[in-house]
Amino acid sequence: MRVTFGLAVAALFLAGCLEDGADVKSSESDVGAVTEAVLTLGGKTAPGTTGLLFNGTGAQKIPFQLDLPDDYWTTHTGNVEVSLRWHFVGGARYRFDLLDSVGVSVGKARGGSYAAVLLLPGLKAGTYVVAVTNEGQKAPFEGVVQVDAIAKADSVRELMPNLAALAPDQLSVSWITPLPNGAPGKACWPTEIVEKQHLRCLRVSSAVGNAGEGALEIHMSQIEGAKAAAGLGRYTQRIYSTDGKFREEPVGIGQFHPTHGHFHYNGLAQFTVYKYDVGKDLRGDKVAQSRKNGFCLIDMGLIRLGVPGTTYAHNVETACLVPHEASKTWIVGLSPSWYDLYGSFLDDQSVNINGVPDGVYELVYSVNAEKTLKESSLDDNDASTVFQLTGDNVKVLKRIEDGKHLAPS
Ligand SMILES: [Zn+2]
Repeated sequence: MRVTFGLAVAALFLAGCLEDGADVKSSESDVGAVTEAVLTLGGKTAPGTTGLLFNGTGAQKIPFQLDLPDDYWTTHTGNVEVSLRWHFVGGARYRFDLLDSVGVSVGKARGGSYAAVLLLPGLKAGTYVVAVTNEGQKAPFEGVVQVDAIAKADSVRELMPNLAALAPDQLSVSWITPLPNGAPGKACWPTEIVEKQHLRCLRVSSAVGNAGEGALEIHMSQIEGAKAAAGLGRYTQRIYSTDGKFREEPVGIGQFHPTHGHFHYNGLAQFTVYKYDVGKDLRGDKVAQSRKNGFCLIDMGLIRLGVPGTTYAHNVETACLVPHEASKTWIVGLSPSWYDLYGSFLDDQSVNINGVPDGVYELVYSVNAEKTLKESSLDDNDASTVFQLTGDNVKVLKRIEDGKHLAPS
């Protein structure tokens, strides 16, 4: 295994994901856009990344050289991945073309909400340029070029998903964006007040990512979907292997969510608020907790770059309501490396902090809260944000994540 670059930062790259003989190099020694070997966000690094990482703002051209043996794609399965992600500022959106040595486009990607991915199976050795173009406002972006492949001789194994919590964001005890039907009292939705007896709501946005090698894919059959529309239906999780085959296991419950207007997988996430001692960095007593909330998962952005197995975004919001046309089943999930984000203005994105006095607290976001979904690790299912509460003012003091799954905020 070997990754080398024509850059001073080459030593910082972690080997481990490329097969022997696959080699991505910057084609120039002084490429200004290639500034960091290890992805840094929020003051933390994202270990486990490999490939040519670059970043910038606005339109950029990033040249690179791909060195592969002539027979590489006859002995390996996979692709060359070019991915871009950005901070969501004022409708910022990016697209890019991959150009060959004479400027002919060999592929293009247009961004979704927060990321764009281009996968090129069988891309031959050569010199290429990633030509990045911004639409709308300029915002900082980060990208990667990497060979993402496994030798065909490798034994068959399962590709498990791994749900990972991202630290909660957009904390407030007032409305950031008033709803069309008017701001309810104390930052609570009318449904939260009536159904959950919330009196004073700490609103919060939350994101869950898939840091695993495999897709999280859950199905609800026509029969179970009909049950869910009237009450509760059962989901089935599909777990794929490297040979494309899969097995299925019954998992949690699906239910229609009236204010979101689509089906949710129940019990997926929960917020808990603890006292927090800043001086000792210690969690204290629990002071508030939300219900275990349901979600419909969709692919919105990339949690990290340079991870083998990154795929195109497959899960879209319409699939939360409309069954798959051919199979008549509801199919949702999270593709490898993608995250879903629920904004703080949405119903259920709150925890009742009525009676909680001013002070410093830790808000913990837990995903796969009922542990019904099959995943490779439960160790990264909690992430938290420490904040100071003064009246209805909230000041974020720090975010606690494992450092591997950081999304742009
Ligand atoms: Zn929803």
